[in-house]
Amino acid sequence: MMQVFCSPLRYVQGISASNQLAQQMDAVGMKPPVLLVASKSARSQAEKAWQESMKQLGWEFSILDFTGECTPKEIDSVVARAKTLGVKSLVGAGGGKVLDTARAAANICNISIALAPSIASTDAPTSALSVVYDEQGKVLEYRIFKRNPDLVLVDLSLIAQAPVRFLAAGIGDALSTYFESDACRLSRKPNMRSGLSTQAAFALARFCFDSIIADGADACVAVANKIVSPALERIVEANTLLSGLGFESSGLAAAHAIHNGLTMIPSTHDFLHGEKVTIGVLTQLALEGKPRPFFQDIVRFLKSVNLPTRLKDLGIDANDLNVINTIAKRATQPGETIHNEPFPVTAAMVADALRAADALSAQV
Ligand SMILES: [Zn+2]
Repeated sequence: MMQVFCSPLRYVQGISASNQLAQQMDAVGMKPPVLLVASKSARSQAEKAWQESMKQLGWEFSILDFTGECTPKEIDSVVARAKTLGVKSLVGAGGGKVLDTARAAANICNISIALAPSIASTDAPTSALSVVYDEQGKVLEYRIFKRNPDLVLVDLSLIAQAPVRFLAAGIGDALSTYFESDACRLSRKPNMRSGLSTQAAFALARFCFDSIIADGADACVAVANKIVSPALERIVEANTLLSGLGFESSGLAAAHAIHNGLTMIPSTHDFLHGEKVTIGVLTQLALEGKPRPFFQDIVRFLKSVNLPTRLKDLGIDANDLNVINTIAKRATQPGETIHNEPFPVTAAMVADALRAADALSAQV
């Protein structure tokens, strides 16, 4: 099997980066007219900056408000609008679901795509992958596309204005990257691009972990006070770029499969992707039998950034075996990334690991 590494064409982050949207698009060869798919909050914060930037280059653009989930229906409606307008580029601006919808639509239309996350809550922006949900909020499929985004533009001023819970969720998502990457490395299982990992991807995943442990808590303090600090700059890069390149080019394993299992339980729908992934990380550590002091250090870190460490934090009763078995069964369904672990994993093992991680966390 070949080793494969992939990434967006360009990653840009900085204070007031929205002011340079069109210029950065132009720098990677993107062309007008542009359709910008935006969440309500991204639009209210950045529309002026986008307009000014597009005006400077004389680019024609329109905005489509996004309110829904990333479902097949939403993706198709963006495709229909893009075709009607005859646009040459798409932009997704907002949270993960807007970005996933815009990316999927751009790939169907075979036009270039820029993604402008307004929160740093997941590592999805840099990837060529969209997580598609059904109307009930359950994970339906991972759609993997030929192309990574042409541009990822992260405006630190928007990230600093967002609720700190989003940044913490991004830290939870990014925390999984090293552990899942390590599992794929040990098992020599393929990454998200059907190739083996590279030293570069593994080093990025490891650096992502070190960066999060070093700066995660300080970055949360910065956002709680709406400040852009050096720690926040480093964590936004860790949550978005390091984790994104790490997961896509090194692969996913148990933590994200357990996340998918958790989405089967309605009480988890009020929680963010990264908050569920956090429980996935702890369960993966229990499944792999990581030493207790290490597990406890991770739990202490999660508490320092207000991330969930117990099943009850997601509204799940650890003693409800029906619920536990539902999660475990979904997490181990054929084709799930949990089978990238370096040993065979069964639903019974996951059910035990969910409850073991919960019990161990309770002791910290
Ligand atoms: Zn994730």
